[in-house]
Amino acid sequence: MSRFLNDRYSSLEVYTPGEQPKDKKYIKLNTNESPFPPSEKTVAAVNADEIRDLRLYSDPECSELKMAMAQSYGVKTENVYVANGSDDILNFAFMAFGQNGAVFPEISYGFYKVFAELHVVDYITVPLEKDFSIDADKYCFNGRLTVIANPNAPTGLCLSVKEIEQIVKNNPDGVVLIDEAYIDFGGESCLPLINKYKNLLVTGTFSKSRSMAGARLGFCFADKEIIDDLRRIKYSTNPYNINRLTLVAGKAAIEDDAYYTENCKRIIENREYTVAQLEGLGFRVIPSKANFVFAESDWIDGAELYSKLKEKGILVRHFDSERIKNFNRITIGSIEEMREFIKTVKQISEELQ
Ligand SMILES: *Cc1c(COP(=O)(O)O)cnc(C)c1O
Repeated sequence: MSRFLNDRYSSLEVYTPGEQPKDKKYIKLNTNESPFPPSEKTVAAVNADEIRDLRLYSDPECSELKMAMAQSYGVKTENVYVANGSDDILNFAFMAFGQNGAVFPEISYGFYKVFAELHVVDYITVPLEKDFSIDADKYCFNGRLTVIANPNAPTGLCLSVKEIEQIVKNNPDGVVLIDEAYIDFGGESCLPLINKYKNLLVTGTFSKSRSMAGARLGFCFADKEIIDDLRRIKYSTNPYNINRLTLVAGKAAIEDDAYYTENCKRIIENREYTVAQLEGLGFRVIPSKANFVFAESDWIDGAELYSKLKEKGILVRHFDSERIKNFNRITIGSIEEMREFIKTVKQISEELQ
């Protein structure tokens, strides 16, 4: 750290992304990426003409992409905002709406805490229930920014739209941000509620169900006034925050919805397979509506399973925090990857006998 750094940032605990090691080829089940490539039409959209146009700035309004999204999701363009990954939107949301503090579940996406600290937002966390679920009734902190990942990460558990509506209703004087990064894998989106509540902000991403983690593209829906607040911050920081190639790829992906819906179906099938197999091997698996499962067993410690899998060329995500340290979060990949994963877990269990 240099002596020039603003004191405000010197004690920040930064977010730790999942590892992307280059030492050998791993089966990567650690960062919830898609095992499937973007669709052919998405790939074709990023063509030589678009690359030549990189000399020009991208459209700061992202009009074409926003129109495509509005049409696909059945909302008005004024209710859509797109950004450089949904992390970018979360960042802005803490900046914009955290004035009276924030609240989020104790176990959830690790970035919420980082953004709260970055923007000096006073935050409180609510413990999960015994079964790792979120009790919607406990989120009554009117005035604070409430942030809920639905499905939650790393548990994969999903609240119903009714429960989300309860939270939104209970907090009329604070923004309720529902992070739907994993909603396409079996949960029900609360998007229709934006027409009814002015304090609801629903975020989503192209990183998981749309196979574009490397393109960095996120989006959100809300009442026009909230969208305008986000635009206000964007035009005060980085108006061209989405590059031209990502804009055209994103639009093509939206227009090729059938391909991505089919991929989600396959992921859900592969998830069911993985859950059944893991349970057969003595694991407790939290019921997941995401493209990952969260599992523990009493025959191997979470950290040990993580290391043994890594030794054998499979990466999963392990978290050190006390309550979940016996678990691993396993991304659902292709069926071949999941068979290999299960085979390897079996092998590890046999080696221990
Ligand atoms: C992956 C993830 C995001 C971030 O998505 P990007 O669009 O890649 O920035 C946001 N929220 C949750 C809960 C996630 O798991």
